Amino acid sequence: MNVLHPVLEAADREFVVQLRRELHRYPELAFEERETSRRLAGVLGEAGLEVRTGLATTGLLGVLSGARPGRTMLIRADMDALPVEEAAGRPYGSLALGKMHACGHDGHMAMAATSARVLARRRQTFSGNVVFAFQPAEETTGGAALMIQDGALADPRVDAAIGLHLANTLPVGQIAAMPGPVTAATDSFVLTVTGRGGHAARPHLSVDPVAVSFQIGSALQTLMTRERSPAQPAVLTVGAIHGGTAANVIADRVEMRGTLRTYDPELRRHLKQRVEEMVGGVAGAMRAGATVRWDEGYPPTVNNPRITTLVAQAAAEVVGEAGLVGHEPSLGGDDMAYFCAAVPGCYARLGSANAELGLDAPHHSPRFDFDEAALPIGVEVLVRATLTFLNG
Ligand SMILES: [Zn+2]
Ligand SMILES: [Zn+2]
Repeated sequence: MNVLHPVLEAADREFVVQLRRELHRYPELAFEERETSRRLAGVLGEAGLEVRTGLATTGLLGVLSGARPGRTMLIRADMDALPVEEAAGRPYGSLALGKMHACGHDGHMAMAATSARVLARRRQTFSGNVVFAFQPAEETTGGAALMIQDGALADPRVDAAIGLHLANTLPVGQIAAMPGPVTAATDSFVLTVTGRGGHAARPHLSVDPVAVSFQIGSALQTLMTRERSPAQPAVLTVGAIHGGTAANVIADRVEMRGTLRTYDPELRRHLKQRVEEMVGGVAGAMRAGATVRWDEGYPPTVNNPRITTLVAQAAAEVVGEAGLVGHEPSLGGDDMAYFCAAVPGCYARLGSANAELGLDAPHHSPRFDFDEAALPIGVEVLVRATLTFLNG
């Protein structure tokens, strides 16, 4: 990528790749990111930032102040790896058995930490502050909300937040920064159908919860096609169903687990209520009992138009107007949602796939890897967007 006046030096490009590789070798799962946290604290401290540790257990903040008082931008990175056994063959492959940075969070951390080094060198050129927030547990229960509880936005008071997620759904050199919702609300449910077990040959003397679960499974999908506007993104997946022990036995109960993904709060509320009504109604009609337990997930990540324009302009300076692309709505979730709900924010997708090099496996796959050329592009974007925000 030939950026006209790059803010990165050759050493920064080298640094971001090396740091990513080092982090990749030592993946840690949600809320266990102790070594990761320690490494990052070292990088931030060396760059001259004020480092605060212990937020959200393993999270940390780096605070960088410019030449004069002013506004504060937060750059966010997530730190957790996944319980995935990495496919062999990379010189920088995971050294932790059964753990892997399979979502690109190693790259997110490396980009944020390198941005800290670059901005620290330029601290005389801007007003205000930059807060670098490294949070645990994006992949599980959401370290972002805990970081905010622990004061990540408070001192200095943060005015805006930005973050990049590497995206193997886009080729390297493309960036999607779009206003409005970009990740979904991720509610999950456990649905229990209670019948009355018995002999498979005498179903009339039992209430068969397996038969009831068939009906519930298809009834739930009619909610998605009949009670949702086709223009509104949403998905309901039953990902697990457990019940019964033998071919000739009618079970007592069946458990179904699933997830509901939505963008729109009103649709979210409506579908949750209708799932309960539908499940209760179908079970009741078939003489069974049923309960639904919801686990509230992340809210949707909603990008602020003003901050998104800022990031898009920075991206255009780096990858050109042609590199700025749209992205189809994702019904994945991400706890960047909490930062974007608390302050005006933008979560953009940074293209990282390179099919020619075989670097295009999907996120969370044991073969996931990305084109490291994305990393300096990401740093350029974060640094430029931040400087424009602080000096604009
Ligand atoms: Zn992920
Ligand atoms: Zn991720």
